[in-house]
Amino acid sequence: MTPCRVCSKEIASPAYEAPAPALTSIMTLLDIPTRVFICDGCGHAQCDEIPDIKGFYDTGYRISLSSEDHDQIFAVKPDGTVIYRTDHQAEISRNLLNLSQGAKLLDYGAAKATTLRKMVAARPDIEPHVFDVSADYAPAWEGWIAPDAQATYEAPKEWAGRFDAAMSHFVIEHVADPVGFISGIRKLLKPHGTLLLSMPDVSANPGDMTVADHVNHFSEASLRRALAAGGFEVSVLDTTSFPGAFFVVAVRSETPVKEEQDADLVRQAVDRGLEICDFWRVSAGGLEKQAANFRGRKAAIYGAGFYGSWIFSRIGKDVEVTAFLDQNPNMQNATHFGHPVTAPTAIAEDAEALFIGLNPLKARAALDNMPYLHKPGLELVWLDS
Ligand SMILES: [Zn+2]
Repeated sequence: MTPCRVCSKEIASPAYEAPAPALTSIMTLLDIPTRVFICDGCGHAQCDEIPDIKGFYDTGYRISLSSEDHDQIFAVKPDGTVIYRTDHQAEISRNLLNLSQGAKLLDYGAAKATTLRKMVAARPDIEPHVFDVSADYAPAWEGWIAPDAQATYEAPKEWAGRFDAAMSHFVIEHVADPVGFISGIRKLLKPHGTLLLSMPDVSANPGDMTVADHVNHFSEASLRRALAAGGFEVSVLDTTSFPGAFFVVAVRSETPVKEEQDADLVRQAVDRGLEICDFWRVSAGGLEKQAANFRGRKAAIYGAGFYGSWIFSRIGKDVEVTAFLDQNPNMQNATHFGHPVTAPTAIAEDAEALFIGLNPLKARAALDNMPYLHKPGLELVWLDS
């Protein structure tokens, strides 16, 4: 039995279980099993807390710290132009928040605050503030955020009721108490202040379900429930601007918000969650077979992101991995789990198989754009077949 992190209902047993290792969002392996629980009370899916969660984010989780230019890829246009995640995030955030002149904006769980920085570049009137549970990022804030507008580990008491708006990008999926997290931000906002949250939408990006440090996998139903419980009224729930993610805008309510539950939404979320758990079971079984099939032979893995890394964690011991192929120029010329990352065009001539480590909902369309990977002697291995 484990209590739901959103509605507290006890969840009897996991819907998916896999033995160690588990893969984190920063592509490291943890020696823990993966267990997914799905709540039929609110449609939330959740995984066990990772060990030493505080230490992991304080000193272990250095996302995008190593290089000034490192950024995750959001999309690649047909002409090859790369769109980076923080550029896109900044644009969506500016549009959704629609801040008034001179607004005080807090980036909560900011990390390097690249999104905030890009928003301020476009709207220099905004007063930027940052908060994070790690002090590692402070050097990235120097020079453009006032010292008294920076906070680490704990928000200062004087910040209560201070902000016109707060935003928190891709943080809430990591926190053990998401309702407490939301009500914590609520205290920092002015009455009727605006909150913008972004997080993975597991229904559109099934890989999220097995990311070890993403302990929450929100559905629309559980997200609405968590915001109500944290004292917010939802004004916009955007599922399209950033495919694979929710961007939700909510307004601080000055009266308790009714935690109404839409039974259809909850049922849909539960069904989709179970379907995704089935997908992972089938994929793991399929990869085991293919690892045996290609044992001792050369193969490449398409994608150095989550799916590709997950494939590696399952086949790396059996297959001779020649390289990870990735379109992100910032990842090329590096190594990943000891193997080179190269442009897809640089696939080894003697690779006999290419394991496709992309979101299965998008993988086939992505590979259709790369005719040079469809060639005799190279078997394409898909996660969902
Ligand atoms: Zn629940």
